[in-house]
Amino acid sequence: MKLGLVGWRGMVGSVLVERMLAEKDFDHCTPFLFTTSQAGQASPYEWAANDTLLDAYDFNALMEMDALIVTQGSDYTQKVYEDLYQKGWQGYWIDAASHLRMDNRSEIVLDPINANLIKDAILSGTKTFVGGNCTVSLMLMAIDGLVRRDLVEWIIPMTYQAASGAGAKSMAELINQMGSIYQTKTQASPSENILAIEKQITHNMQSEERFPQSEFGVPLGGSLIPWIDSVKAPGLSKEEWKAEVETNKILGREASIGVDGLCVRVGTLRCHSQALTLKLKEDLSVSEVEEYLKEGNEWVRYVENSPEASKKYLTPASISGGLDIAVGRLRKLSVAPNMYSIFTVGDQLLWGAAEPLRRVLRLVLSEK
Ligand code: NAP
Repeated sequence: MKLGLVGWRGMVGSVLVERMLAEKDFDHCTPFLFTTSQAGQASPYEWAANDTLLDAYDFNALMEMDALIVTQGSDYTQKVYEDLYQKGWQGYWIDAASHLRMDNRSEIVLDPINANLIKDAILSGTKTFVGGNCTVSLMLMAIDGLVRRDLVEWIIPMTYQAASGAGAKSMAELINQMGSIYQTKTQASPSENILAIEKQITHNMQSEERFPQSEFGVPLGGSLIPWIDSVKAPGLSKEEWKAEVETNKILGREASIGVDGLCVRVGTLRCHSQALTLKLKEDLSVSEVEEYLKEGNEWVRYVENSPEASKKYLTPASISGGLDIAVGRLRKLSVAPNMYSIFTVGDQLLWGAAEPLRRVLRLVLSEK
């Protein structure tokens, strides 16, 4: 199989390539590197089949590929996808961007949850496979054991989403904002008390000139942003809208699960956290729910609901860079019957973006 990679230089693409090399995916296909901005330049990787980078808008070159993994963004997908198939291309389009997720021709991929749907889709001729929204994928990985048993009636996810979800430049801006905060502190005289320093920091944060904020438009470091993505409907963000529609498309069941909550950007680097309120269909003991969560999939790391374990193992700092999905703070809520809380953390560049893409390629290779 000839595999074209578009977007390998970006944040999701770099993590994807790292994982594909680690899992020796290129032993099963021949990788070609495409670019939207550096065509003709030397390929930086000796594992690529092309010595010079191919033009990602050259349809003849794209049509040579049996599959494309595209982590370039929705703009690219919108420019190329339709025309490529119109020209008679028969290959597989595997995409990280949201543009095609709710399209009838696509399957949203998260194979620990929906491998059967993916395999059926491959066998029935589906060619478009799209990674899900990062919070949706991470949430489903976390509560897999409950969803599998059809125990979930509805979910309210309250998210704490990392800067990386907004792209590389936004992540860099968060770090610059943190630096700006620290500089204010170091400029303060040693005799100044902490509230005087805080006052100066807040003063700086409230100024566009003094505080870097061209990407987010507002401070994130030292603050948070309770709106992610565009407006889907009055008062509803697109990120919040995705939760229910994507969850139910991934699960592909007749009876849908209600999912609705608030999505919030916080000053973490690459892990998304979520506080989930779950309404289950049965009155289960906490130990039963714990057992089912642990049985969900091999990546779930159950964290005991204690202060020590929660602070040590249920945090972006402890989870970042790995495939583990930490699940903890499980307790029965007192407000109504069958209600439970869960807190979960996962690396959004891995299970939230890159990992499902490389895994669907392996499924395509094995099912073909
Ligand atoms: P990104 O880091 O901004 O990269 C996208 C493209 O920008 C690269 O492929 C590269 O294309 C170009 N680029 C220009 N200057 C660059 C530089 N200095 N370094 C690296 N690349 C540069 O985008 P991304 O965050 O990976 O997101 C890609 C897609 O995945 C988007 O549709 C996004 O919505 C989706 N997604 C992202 C996340 C996430 O966590 N960020 C999660 C799930 C899905 P050329 O080589 O062609 O110039």
